[in-house]
Amino acid sequence: MGKKVQAVKGMNDLLPVTQKDWPITSAFWLAFEQKISTWAEQYAYQFIRTPIIEPTGLFVRSIGEETDVVGKEMYTFDDYGESLSLRPEGTASCLRAVVEHNLLYNGPMKLWYMGPMFRHEKPQKGRYRQFHQVGCEALGYSQPDVDAEMIVMTADLWKQLGILDKVELEINTLGVSSERAAHREALVAYLQQHEAQLDEDSKRRMHTNPLRVLDTKNPDLQDIANNAPRLIDFLGEESLSHHQTFKALLDAVGIAYVENPRLVRGLDYYNKTVFEWVTNELGSQGTICGGGRYDGLIEELGGKEAPAIGFAMGIERLLLLVQQSGQLDVAADLDVFVMYQGAGTMQQALTVATQLRQAGLKVSQYSGSQSLKAQMKKADGSGARFAVIIGEEELAQQSVSLKDLRGDKGQLQAACGDLLQQLQQWMAQ
Ligand code: ATP
Ligand code: MG
Repeated sequence: MGKKVQAVKGMNDLLPVTQKDWPITSAFWLAFEQKISTWAEQYAYQFIRTPIIEPTGLFVRSIGEETDVVGKEMYTFDDYGESLSLRPEGTASCLRAVVEHNLLYNGPMKLWYMGPMFRHEKPQKGRYRQFHQVGCEALGYSQPDVDAEMIVMTADLWKQLGILDKVELEINTLGVSSERAAHREALVAYLQQHEAQLDEDSKRRMHTNPLRVLDTKNPDLQDIANNAPRLIDFLGEESLSHHQTFKALLDAVGIAYVENPRLVRGLDYYNKTVFEWVTNELGSQGTICGGGRYDGLIEELGGKEAPAIGFAMGIERLLLLVQQSGQLDVAADLDVFVMYQGAGTMQQALTVATQLRQAGLKVSQYSGSQSLKAQMKKADGSGARFAVIIGEEELAQQSVSLKDLRGDKGQLQAACGDLLQQLQQWMAQ
């Protein structure tokens, strides 16, 4: 026997059955995907799909060279002389496509996407090397009403999934780049005063991305982070009023939030509004959704200047939470399990199953050479509501036996021509 090959660490199979450390089945996942497309449509977002591989430069320019994502998490390879990367997130690809196809020529646009993302991180619960995101991008919108709509939209989804009371919204504003530059100067000066107490990560980030130092998880640095100059004190009127209006809109629709001045997000392109939906129920991987404005990014990527905002949610984390404490109806089980035994019955089974499927029923046809008793066990295990049994006797009379597997309707014999009607009658009861 050959040696078994295993999947790449941190990259998971999605199976019809649950797995060790992974309680989500493919049926559960599909139910989520269906819900998501209805939800996105309701908010007038249009679907976009881009390749999972892009020129490396796209991510370096948009996400930022100094970010963890680009600096150490990207899967990058040489493709006959061109450097390509598996996408670590969706916004850059989405905007690349928007600019390439000039999609904003006619005004603003709202887009959503769904698919796998790749980051070379340490695999653990809620953190994988191939994970999946749903993201929404509102392009060409400058006013805080869109920021608020995104919050309303995500809150609505959490409500539909039964997890609204398990998540908390954190918001912050990052102002515009000139404001951040002034703050950065003050912050670097402050951090330099405390350099001796900083850890290695923070010393490095102090010069590359000092805002991230404030985001440190190191308990010894919390005092330093808490007392650092605050960005909000450097914001001008326009940024402040955008933020005030955003918050007033959230108040108006009754969505609670926590202002977290240290929320900066891990990608460089954000400005003004940033937000995260977090939960305490998943251990340390608690952010299920994050987003914010990136008003300069479209222009940065060669498009005509256009304000924009977006968010992405991690499907794995979200579904773990839904599985644990929410609700999501998976597609109903099979309606009918067709079984047969004896000469000529194979063809009759195929004919009957086809008729039922054409009428819209979900039908499994068991093409085994097993005894009817063994097939009946399979039918029971399949979750089907009814069994249709075709033996030689039934075949001779152009009939089938129909059995209720879940309820108390018992068993009866029906002429082939009456089967559908009989089934529909039973199903309606
Ligand atoms: P974290 O702080 O948890 O690393 P992030 O800030 O890197 O998250 P984003 O780039 O904002 O994450 O991606 C949006 C969402 O995608 C996250 O909130 C999370 O739900 C999910 N996500 C990010 N990285 C992973 C991963 N490696 N595995 C599973 N889900 C992920
Ligand atoms: Mg991360």
